[in-house]
Amino acid sequence: MNTGTILIIGAGGVGSVVAHKCALNPQIFKKIHLASRNLEKPDAIKADIKKRWNVDIETHQVDADKVPELVSLIREIKPDVLINVALPYQDLTIMDACLETGVNYIDTANYEPIDEAHFEYSWQWAYQDKFKNKGIMAILGAGFDPGVSNMYCAYILKKFYDKVRFIDILDANAGNHGHTFATNFNPEINIREVTQIVRHWENGKWIETPAIIDPTSVHFTFDYPIAGPKDSYLLYHEELESLVKNMPGLERIRFWMTFSSNYLTHLRVMQNIGITRIDEVEFDGKKIVPIKFLKALLPNPASLATNYTGKTVIGCIITGVKDGKESTKYIYNVCDHAECFKEVGSQAISYTAGVPPVAAAIMLMKGIWSGAGVFNMEQLDPEPFLEEVSKNGLPFEVVDYSPLPDKI
Ligand code: NDP
Repeated sequence: MNTGTILIIGAGGVGSVVAHKCALNPQIFKKIHLASRNLEKPDAIKADIKKRWNVDIETHQVDADKVPELVSLIREIKPDVLINVALPYQDLTIMDACLETGVNYIDTANYEPIDEAHFEYSWQWAYQDKFKNKGIMAILGAGFDPGVSNMYCAYILKKFYDKVRFIDILDANAGNHGHTFATNFNPEINIREVTQIVRHWENGKWIETPAIIDPTSVHFTFDYPIAGPKDSYLLYHEELESLVKNMPGLERIRFWMTFSSNYLTHLRVMQNIGITRIDEVEFDGKKIVPIKFLKALLPNPASLATNYTGKTVIGCIITGVKDGKESTKYIYNVCDHAECFKEVGSQAISYTAGVPPVAAAIMLMKGIWSGAGVFNMEQLDPEPFLEEVSKNGLPFEVVDYSPLPDKI
């Protein structure tokens, strides 16, 4: 029997959207709790939610690196579901606290150790038996990409094909925030992700190619619906790892993201001078981590929303086979930065990442998804989820399409 109680951890750009969208579903979420490292951000979100929707939420201070602090907060609140939209560094401590208290867990990004710019599911998949034995669910990567991107693949397979051969995930931000350089979500996490060596999966193995800032990186111009032609770069993204495992018969999967030449030039310079380093350096008698210092200088991603114009276009081009006949579909969402700001005061990157975990929580609250263990999104039923995501502001289109070339 659930009580309609939700605990959200993390009150940044994504956490704000999650809290607003929970407030907009009062029939499901009767008590909303928002916790973060400091009270300042949760309290500002609480005031905005009261002003916009006349809904009361409760705020809490918690250090999510500390399991005992999390456990005592969870015991006090007794949530049915916890949504983790803090940083990937906190995934394991929050999962440990959920295990200790028997609470279902949802996140949007896989675990990454703070001292190693490396992310993969192995650490969280290792919790499979523990969650199973406890009889609770951990749903991993329930944002837009990963998240909806995984579900677009599961949906196209379920609706149209016996098997899927090729997947290209394409993520375009065709927006303009007016700053010379800024990242759209947490700068530290974003820069760690995009400066990595690139990998995609083809014919049973991972193929490595140069990082996006390398002049020999793999890129091409893709003509996005509504947004038009944009330079799109091959990038490693975490959903590739789970989709390779969970989409039987898959022959190739690639992930592409748009970057402007201005963004790449800035990133190249920052990398060359060492300000993206994640190890400690000595400065003025103190130890500092350069990327953390850089984060302090860059605009807060949530603050970009005010004057953001343009759209995001994120989707998948999928080639599959039905009754021996091959065809290709393109499934995508278009989201408008300014409209997100009007609705919940956020830009479209936070909005597209924040709506899906709320839809996932609704699936759990309504008992539409159930089970025990650790799940990636594509292992769950995509149809009711995508319906809920659409109802909450992120509808999708499916069109017949041509496959992207093998070699780019
Ligand atoms: P922000 O940096 O804006 O917000 C992170 C929040 O977590 C802040 O409120 C921060 O508090 C809080 N926090 C950090 N450390 C702790 C801690 N130890 N204890 C408690 N709270 C803590 O990030 P975003 O909102 O942009 O991103 C949130 C998550 O969403 C990230 O994991 C990101 O990777 C993921 N994401 C997923 C996407 C997807 O499509 N799947 C897309 C975009 C983001 P404070 O401000 O005080 O530091």
